[in-house]
Amino acid sequence: MSELKVPIRPAVRALPRYAPGKSAEGAVKLSSNEMPLPPSATVTEAMRRALEAVNRYPDLTAVALRGAIAVRHGVDPDQVCIGTGSSALLVAALGAVCEPGDRVVYPWRSFESYPIAIPASHGVGVPVPLDSEGRHDVPGLIEAAAQGARVLILCSPNNPTGPALGFDAIERVVGAVDPSTLVLVDEAYIDFATDPAVATAIPLIAEHANVLVMRTFSKAHGLAGARIGYAIGHPGLIGAIQAVSVPFGVSTAAQAGALASLEDEAGVRAAVAEVVAERERVVSALRAFGWEVSDTQANFFFLPGAGGPFVAACADEGLLVRPFPEGVRVSIGDREANDRLLGVARDFIA
Ligand SMILES: *Cc1c(COP(=O)(O)O)cnc(C)c1O
Repeated sequence: MSELKVPIRPAVRALPRYAPGKSAEGAVKLSSNEMPLPPSATVTEAMRRALEAVNRYPDLTAVALRGAIAVRHGVDPDQVCIGTGSSALLVAALGAVCEPGDRVVYPWRSFESYPIAIPASHGVGVPVPLDSEGRHDVPGLIEAAAQGARVLILCSPNNPTGPALGFDAIERVVGAVDPSTLVLVDEAYIDFATDPAVATAIPLIAEHANVLVMRTFSKAHGLAGARIGYAIGHPGLIGAIQAVSVPFGVSTAAQAGALASLEDEAGVRAAVAEVVAERERVVSALRAFGWEVSDTQANFFFLPGAGGPFVAACADEGLLVRPFPEGVRVSIGDREANDRLLGVARDFIA
């Protein structure tokens, strides 16, 4: 290979690389927060049918899907845009508003895409540590934003720790920051939240044009492999995100699957309820064994302080879990996998 003379931006050279949850032949993957079961047959059938027209470009602005999302959330279609997962929408939203050097405040530890997407979009990340229970430090985030921020990111429920922000806390943040600061609320896991204080930030958009809510079909809808998510916000923001997005990024099959999944509300609700019931069962059992488990409103739970030896014990039983410097995150799997995990956790602490 000849020597590369094209300079790579220093900010890009320094980027942390996204580490996907591990996969291994025969092992059960509890490391990427995916749904344990495939989507319903109506969804996969709609995707199969869409493939028959794969010689055609997809609908650029996904009119049918955006219409259905708008109806679902009680907003106008021009307040909705879709993208290849909320990871892509995050990059597009940051790219649409960040001038080089603009500060982007975000909670940490949180979604590992944040410290990648921020410098990639010419922003400067300002991480605000979580509190000792893995929750957002709301006053800390507000204070950091008060020192000047183009964007403030909230992740609720928070990946990888699990707690969610109450609606009143989000309202407090939005009321405190300058209206020129984009408040980006990542609600990837909100469908799994059962705490009645937790609710979507979408109703805040009407009064606060700087609020942008990001959703994905990767988690509750079980379409992680299809790559599709959406953002809801002020039409001016949505138009800007659309302008910087790769055209025709979201495939016809992904659009069809997402639309069918929205129409199969009962099926999605049932799948989510199953995961939530398993979450409650597993977390209660772990606590009874003596484990410390962070509060979780998502389809995973976090074991603060757990590390390499626990990850190795899981691997010995064919379970892949996700280590972080602060602890280990485990996705809720099917009942059999969860039972196996409980067996490892019981023996481990004994
Ligand atoms: C999984 C996840 C997403 C969704 O990512 P996609 O790109 O839509 O698959 C967004 N935010 C958080 C916090 C996540 O964990």
